[in-house]
Amino acid sequence: MSPKTDGSIFIFSSPSGAGKTTLVKLVSKKENFTISISHTTRKPRSKEVNGKDYHFVDDKTFQSLIKQREFLEYAKVFDNYYGTSRSPVIKNLSEGINILFDIDWQGSKQIKSQSKNFNIFSFFVLPPSKEVLFERLSNRDMKDKLIASERMKEFYKDIKHWVDYDYVVINDNLEICYNEVIEVIENIVSSKKKVSFDKQRIEKHVEKLIS
Ligand code: 5GP
Repeated sequence: MSPKTDGSIFIFSSPSGAGKTTLVKLVSKKENFTISISHTTRKPRSKEVNGKDYHFVDDKTFQSLIKQREFLEYAKVFDNYYGTSRSPVIKNLSEGINILFDIDWQGSKQIKSQSKNFNIFSFFVLPPSKEVLFERLSNRDMKDKLIASERMKEFYKDIKHWVDYDYVVINDNLEICYNEVIEVIENIVSSKKKVSFDKQRIEKHVEKLIS
């Protein structure tokens, strides 16, 4: 078992297109925070850089990393594999650095069940509406509108996992959402305790999103 460390793990999950990646990148600018760079078999998008946004690898490489037990967690999301390398996480945490994870609900579940010795806090990011979500997904994958429709289908499955997270935010306005997240993180870092949120408001919002 790994020893308890000073650094904490902050997991961010959301249905695809809720703006979580932008949010995580902003939070990572905070002193003593870094992002866990995942491996993926997905092809890079136009502005993505290998080694910065993801480690882009082929299926064979990914499968051999699984065999070598290099991943703290991994999952198939849509049609591709995504995984978190174990060694950089251990190294950063042991140096007291907080790590931000931009991963899906499957990865979050695995990390929570397997890494009980770490300080883990999880955030779920919701979009303001289905319309905004579809618009964000369509703008992102201009070349293939089908991808946006496929991801909308997954949305209804993904969203129900909000109940498993420590804190849930609605990303309507990025700046407001960022400020809320930073306030919660600062609170957690100083107290190492979870922060409560308005569950009824989120429940109502989710009902609206899935209706
Ligand atoms: P995208 O292809 O849009 O970059 O990511 C698709 C989904 O995969 C997102 O929900 C993202 O958070 C998730 N994801 C990215 N990296 C990882 C990872 O290492 N593990 C898991 N389980 N999910 C990941």
